[in-house]
Amino acid sequence: MSGLWEYFECQRCGKCCEAIGLPWDPARTEEIASFLNISVEELMERYYGRLSPDGEAWELEDHKRTPCPFLRSEGDKKACAIYPVRPEGCRLYPFETDFGRQGVDCPGADIAFEKSSQNDQTTSDEDKSFTRVGLLKLPFDEEYLAGPIAFVVLGGHSIKSIEGEEYRCLSAECRTYEELEFQIRFLRDNLDQIAEEGKKFFQKEFERREKWREGRRIKKE
Ligand code: SF4
Ligand code: SF4
Repeated sequence: MSGLWEYFECQRCGKCCEAIGLPWDPARTEEIASFLNISVEELMERYYGRLSPDGEAWELEDHKRTPCPFLRSEGDKKACAIYPVRPEGCRLYPFETDFGRQGVDCPGADIAFEKSSQNDQTTSDEDKSFTRVGLLKLPFDEEYLAGPIAFVVLGGHSIKSIEGEEYRCLSAECRTYEELEFQIRFLRDNLDQIAEEGKKFFQKEFERREKWREGRRIKKE
């Protein structure tokens, strides 16, 4: 099966930079400041947030970072004004957007999905087996003394990459047949409960993340 990423081409629409904004990357603040020929304090103040009243920490302010202040227009395309020193999160685009989540409808991902599904229609029967629930088998590797490992997988598009291919994983990895049996039985018997737990988990964690976003502080060096 072809990996989804081989079809991905960024359309330079800038939607991700507009919606997600300038990522915070402490490892790159000095590099970005030096690239802009300003001090780290100036960088923080102008593009990230404000100093707390006690002067001990930086409080992030989303209105300074979102949309990203470094997004520029180049004709009908967008460009990054600090491209050589951009934060790590930007280097992960569109992985960072998780295929259109985080409020980003990434056209590059849409094109990749379309091309990939067209290709899926012409792949062999063996490849097609991964367009449904199936088993991904990684045999014992003599060189690395790894495996065997089996994954219960769903579909050909995905979130998780295994051995360079893209799959949506249903289960944790299984290292013995007993583990595999257990995972399948567990999934079958507990799907409703897992869905309910998952729902609560996401609700709680999204709320926690929002609260954190509102009140986060970065300790001043
Ligand atoms: S949203 Fe997708 S296509 Fe648009 S700039 Fe971001 S990665 Fe590229
Ligand atoms: S720093 Fe550049 S790549 Fe990162 S969000 Fe801003 S404009 Fe986009």
